[in-house]
Amino acid sequence: MSKPAQDRVVVLASGNAGKLRELAGILAPLGVQLQSQARYQVPAVEENGLSFVENAIIKARAASSYSGHPAIADDSGLEVDFLDGAPGIRSARYSGDGDAANNAKLLAALAGCSEEQRSARFQCALVYMRHALDPMPVVCQASWEGRILEAPRGENGFGYDPLFYVPEHGCTSAELPAELKNRISHRARASALLLEALRQR
Ligand code: IMP
Repeated sequence: MSKPAQDRVVVLASGNAGKLRELAGILAPLGVQLQSQARYQVPAVEENGLSFVENAIIKARAASSYSGHPAIADDSGLEVDFLDGAPGIRSARYSGDGDAANNAKLLAALAGCSEEQRSARFQCALVYMRHALDPMPVVCQASWEGRILEAPRGENGFGYDPLFYVPEHGCTSAELPAELKNRISHRARASALLLEALRQR
């Protein structure tokens, strides 16, 4: 027997309205009511894991603990091969001074590198926890391959999008229409895997 609607509240461990809208749409076939953690008093947690998966679990655990509902969290970032995976889990705080400075630091770190040395990918870990002590979270991981350009291009997106060249489309992810990026990105692919995994439950 299916559960009543109020039992299907799931909290997203993010205050980002765009992420909430996007994921709510993807999970709509499951009949879950995805809520922002902003409506619960979830304190900022220290993301001190050493992997995207660990950090996503830390965030989902806090959201579930404070809301009393199942929770979903994502953690993502850019992995550059020549930099041994940096900026990685430190993508948001790579320069300590926001997106423009992050991009400038990345360009400086790759100065003089050939096209082959500029291979990179966005990574996304998406985690679902039934409760704060869930010993078996659902973990979905996906990536999006590309390479880092020598100068920014495009106005869409955020973060490293202006530097991330997507070979299949011959442009950066900041030049892709948002609707297309949201279908093919690391986050889109991880979200599709999560939908499938939750359907199996
Ligand atoms: P978060 O996990 O959404 O907080 O993302 C962490 C950081 O990774 C962001 O602040 C960006 O610097 C980078 N990042 C993650 N996903 C993307 C993307 O789709 N485009 C550009 N940068 C991204």
